[in-house]
Amino acid sequence: MMKKVIWFAATPALVAGLTLWATAQDKKKEGYTDTPVITGQKWKVHDADRPVPAVVTPAAQVGSAPSDAVVLFDGKDLSKWKGPKGEAHWKVQDGYIEETKGGNLQTVDSWGDFQLHIEWASPAEVKGSSQGRGNSGVFLHGRYEIQVLDSYENLTYADGQASSIYGQWPPLVNAARKPGEWQSYDIVFHAAKFKDGQVEKLATVTVFHNGVLTHEKKEILGPTQHRTLAKESAYDGKGPISLQDHGNPTRFRNIWIRPIKSYDGE
Ligand code: MG
Repeated sequence: MMKKVIWFAATPALVAGLTLWATAQDKKKEGYTDTPVITGQKWKVHDADRPVPAVVTPAAQVGSAPSDAVVLFDGKDLSKWKGPKGEAHWKVQDGYIEETKGGNLQTVDSWGDFQLHIEWASPAEVKGSSQGRGNSGVFLHGRYEIQVLDSYENLTYADGQASSIYGQWPPLVNAARKPGEWQSYDIVFHAAKFKDGQVEKLATVTVFHNGVLTHEKKEILGPTQHRTLAKESAYDGKGPISLQDHGNPTRFRNIWIRPIKSYDGE
């Protein structure tokens, strides 16, 4: 009799415990424990144990191009872009471009320091998880990736989620919208400086994701790497914007850039 009473009393606790365990398993994120420690930080590259940023719901409004911007994509014209074989190969329809297999899309022109606005949407139909869900990327100077990923209720390693400086810094918060909804990045980028082939100053980046600050003047250690340390190396300090073909049909629209020029009255 006593045994029966104990069993009945223990059952709800057991069920609750199992449910908690199952939930924890569901929320377990991808990541690594065998990667090197990121220079200047305590975390490893794509660290499985690095806490993920807090979730913030962004406001509805996004930015149109100001009068002095160079419009890189107006909804129709892809003439400012090219593909690996020359001509821009991504699909244009209904005012947006869609990631198409066959390599990255990149601008014909290059810039030094700039302000960039770009809007993107991950596929409305959710497929895959972690890094496999709506993965693309905005590469600054074709070197440094600001990650594009469906990070709406999709856990992955912190330095690989949407708006991360991939493999280096997670965003300050997770301001992701739902899959299929249009999102924006506003990026202020300053190129690295070199002297006699040596790094004098690392590149820095400030990023707003859907109008929410996710990086403030963060130093970029070097060109984006997967599972290994980024290290800067000398180049001419100019480069294109490129959009990553990661095999997921991510969409982009309303892309404009403003080179940062010094103010004459200063
Ligand atoms: Mg990517």
